[in-house]
Amino acid sequence: MKCICVFCGSNLGAREVYLAAARALAEAIASRGLTLVYGGARVGLMGILADTALAAGGKVIGVMPKALVAREIEHGDLSEFHTVGSMQERKALMADLSDGFIALPGGIGTLEETFEIWTWGQLGYHAKPIGFLNVAGYYDKLFAFLDHQSDERFMRRVHRDMLLVESEPDRLLDSFNAYSAPVVEKWISPGER
Ligand code: AMP
Repeated sequence: MKCICVFCGSNLGAREVYLAAARALAEAIASRGLTLVYGGARVGLMGILADTALAAGGKVIGVMPKALVAREIEHGDLSEFHTVGSMQERKALMADLSDGFIALPGGIGTLEETFEIWTWGQLGYHAKPIGFLNVAGYYDKLFAFLDHQSDERFMRRVHRDMLLVESEPDRLLDSFNAYSAPVVEKWISPGER
């Protein structure tokens, strides 16, 4: 792995623990000599993540749609910055550049980006690892619902288990190195258990 994409909030969240997690993840990525790919903003956890990776001597690539440059405030000091035409182009370029994907705490955008890359993996379009840094149990209720989806047979357990979950950055990055993608069809036939 050379490049890790991180999706995270354009807000800071309510608790210091989220900021600390963004810093810890950025430091872990930089200390492994990995390049950070992210949305290119200066605001929220995104800004903390990029500032920390740069301060640790890491390479940071930002990707932002033209329409968001003013609203999310382009970082300005990144190793590389790509302006693209749309959210779709942003996600496609971030996906192409990256060898794995991590969600920190965030809002709707964070979920949208992470879930889209997960759906691509489920369809077998890529075999790259996807993980959640589950800080202070932030995503516990989401994981409970994903278990429900699997229990109710709208998703295979093997696809539910594609998501790697840890609360500590180095453990999550270690689990990425050991990941191998499932090769089973998405669709569950009616008689299948
Ligand atoms: P949020 O988690 O809502 O704070 O957003 C995190 C990042 O996701 C921000 O950079 C948003 O611009 C981005 N984002 C929001 N909606 C979308 C979308 N539909 N597609 C791609 N990125 C998005």
